[in-house]
Amino acid sequence: MIGVIFGPPGSGKGTQAALLHDRFNLVHLSTGEILRHEVARGSELGREVGRIMQAGQLVPDDLVDRVVQEHLRQVEGDVLLDGFPRTVEQAKALDEMLADADRHVDFVIALEAPEKLLVERLLHRAQVEGRADDTRQAIEERMHEYRTRTAAVLDHYRSTGVPVFEVDAEGSVDAVFERVRASVSQATARPL
Ligand code: AMP
Repeated sequence: MIGVIFGPPGSGKGTQAALLHDRFNLVHLSTGEILRHEVARGSELGREVGRIMQAGQLVPDDLVDRVVQEHLRQVEGDVLLDGFPRTVEQAKALDEMLADADRHVDFVIALEAPEKLLVERLLHRAQVEGRADDTRQAIEERMHEYRTRTAAVLDHYRSTGVPVFEVDAEGSVDAVFERVRASVSQATARPL
């Protein structure tokens, strides 16, 4: 089973994905985390993408597609994709990769919250975690990338018949998780 956790920056994708991993035993595949790891270890890929990420821009599709393909190849069980796909081109590339393995995206959880709240959360995270792309300027750029390039990914899934569950991402982590959990249970017919 392949699920996608989707939403704008600051909507809590990573937090909710980690909780889903614990509850549903899904492999959590976060492209942001993988790329940050590459930057930290100074690999060739990391050197290529570090500045792009710091500026809050999207890394080129072909690089991210390759990373995902390599990781997907290594997992046999259920997967939760976090932060991918972020463009319609990535979504199409994912469809092709999965079709080659006789798989497909089973559901999308789309977290939703007003932009003002998202920016507040990201600025708070900047103080707590110190992520390089949580500066005001990079946050603005990430929001812009989301609106202009990523939001359309949902239309791709809706138009190809993949169930999309819209989840209100306002409120405490636990309250949001309860909504997310209910949607995943419905999507997978697993009453967990
Ligand atoms: P995230 O941790 O998901 O917020 O991602 C952090 C940053 O990594 C993004 O702002 C992009 O620069 C880069 N990134 C992560 N996933 C993708 C993706 N699917 N496509 C392009 N860039 C990505």
